[in-house]
Amino acid sequence: MNVLLIGPPGSGKGTQGKRLADLLSLEHLATGDLLRAEVDAGTELGRKAEEIMADGELVPDSVIIDLVMPKVRAANNRNGYLLDGFPRSVDQAVEARRLAEEYDATPDAVIYLDVPRDELKRRILARAESEGRIDDNEETVTNRLRVFDEATAPLVDYYRDRGLLHTVDAARTEDEVTESILAVLPKT
Ligand code: ADP
Repeated sequence: MNVLLIGPPGSGKGTQGKRLADLLSLEHLATGDLLRAEVDAGTELGRKAEEIMADGELVPDSVIIDLVMPKVRAANNRNGYLLDGFPRSVDQAVEARRLAEEYDATPDAVIYLDVPRDELKRRILARAESEGRIDDNEETVTNRLRVFDEATAPLVDYYRDRGLLHTVDAARTEDEVTESILAVLPKT
């Protein structure tokens, strides 16, 4: 099974992505983690991405697509993927679909983690204290939420129109959210 997880920063994509990937034996592909690994390793890609991420902007589509699509293809040849953080815009979704259709790796379900704005801010600033991610400061968070509204939120309609979307109330406990997601995923 192939699953996409979309949601604003702080909606719990990372937490739920990891849980679901473990429970369903899927490959957890978190684009933020993949990019941070490139930054830490000091690769050319990482050097290009670092400043963009620190500002809360999106790295260029071609960069993220070249990074993630080979992994999508490989995971599809195994038990499937749990994609967390990609696609993040309709342009990325269109290009990802074109490529995924070539190797029969399109998603089976899209989960939208829905959380009210004040709860998102609270969670991210709490995470800033415990994890120290450099993009978890107040200014960048405001920008990441704006980027989400402008670039990523239109994906909700895009996937609803394709009959793939399941909206989950993610302002509940981690266990409750996981249960709700498992309940809406197609049975395989
Ligand atoms: P969050 O969803 O909490 O903002 P992520 O770890 O998913 O955190 O992403 C961190 C940053 O990595 C984003 O702000 C963006 O700069 C970059 N990034 C992640 N995924 C993508 C993507 N699909 N396209 C472009 N940039 C991305």
